[in-house]
Amino acid sequence: MPSKVAIAIGAHPDDIEFYMAGTLLLLREAGYETHYLNLASGNCGSAQYNGAVTRSIRSAEARAAAKILGAHFHASITDDLEILYNLELLRTLSAIIRDVKPRILLTHSPQDYMEDHTNTSRLAVSAAFTRGMPNFRTAPARPAADYEVTVYHALPHGLCDPLRRRLVPGAFVNTTSVHKIQLKALAAHQSQQNWLDVSQGLNSYLLAMEDMALAVGRMSKRFKHAEGWRRHLHFGFCGPDADPLAPALGKNHLVNKAYERSLERGL
Ligand SMILES: [Zn+2]
Repeated sequence: MPSKVAIAIGAHPDDIEFYMAGTLLLLREAGYETHYLNLASGNCGSAQYNGAVTRSIRSAEARAAAKILGAHFHASITDDLEILYNLELLRTLSAIIRDVKPRILLTHSPQDYMEDHTNTSRLAVSAAFTRGMPNFRTAPARPAADYEVTVYHALPHGLCDPLRRRLVPGAFVNTTSVHKIQLKALAAHQSQQNWLDVSQGLNSYLLAMEDMALAVGRMSKRFKHAEGWRRHLHFGFCGPDADPLAPALGKNHLVNKAYERSLERGL
């Protein structure tokens, strides 16, 4: 069983590019086989086209973005606002996890402004949890396997939880070296772009990602562009100190000591 496998699980087409793709690109550079899955199709992301047309446009865009990221593409399993924490989706996602066998799982924050994001986080956590349980039926049926997986949660949109509280990450990842590729992958979601200044080739969609990367970079006090991660509690997933992002990313990984201290204080 190959041990260098990572999967990013987002809610909608473009979420991986916004919150996780820099780290996914660096993992690929570090020799990881990378996988790309948006649970929802993006079918609600248009006021111009109906759901079926939008679904097919956004699926093609997501496929193109995954190709730019060099990640294996997995088709969506539901539609926008239908990412509910239910058994059907859990069985389907668990089958994908059993096929991929990730050692690193990147997903949304458990606290985020949008319920599709938080439900994606919950489904990803539970699907990873069931990987070694033969009595949990997946759809389609897949054999269980025993291996360690470490789950990392991205920072939420706006860097705040739904109650407006600021969140800080447990670790920063320096995404500067891959930032341009990340922007290119985001730009593949052409239907979502609201062009403000065609002459400069910039738009609010790309600038929003740029702003977030710079804001997290400032938070790190070390990197220009960064993504932030919080590690899921290890029970049922991996050893207590397992943190495979750190050795995989080397100097591009920075533990946030202030966060570690706050864990000890129980704040
Ligand atoms: Zn989203």
